[in-house]
Amino acid sequence: MDAERLCLDCGTALHGRADKKFCNDLCRNNYNNQLNSSSYNLVRNINNILRKNRRILEELNPGGKTKTTGKKLSAKGFDFEYHTRSYQTQNGKTYHFCYEYGYLPLDNDEFLLVKRVEN
Ligand SMILES: [Zn+2]
Repeated sequence: MDAERLCLDCGTALHGRADKKFCNDLCRNNYNNQLNSSSYNLVRNINNILRKNRRILEELNPGGKTKTTGKKLSAKGFDFEYHTRSYQTQNGKTYHFCYEYGYLPLDNDEFLLVKRVEN
């Protein structure tokens, strides 16, 4: 006898075709909607972090080039885990960018803030 198969959505025992995964269309739709919404939430959360990071860098760097501290960035809620790209210079320094705004960690908690000119 086959192992009991359960609906992926509600966990009810399934009968009938061996490839059946859901009780009915309602369970199928429910399951798929949940999948979609959790992956959508992940994308939305990361987009929000990136937009916030960009806004903080823009706020601290209105002139396009300046210095700040890691403390100030953290106090504004900057998340160092997320950036859109990184750029390594020939002398081995790595800039991280959130869209067009970038930063380079310096010594003693100082950060150089830059703005990339798109062309
Ligand atoms: Zn079900």
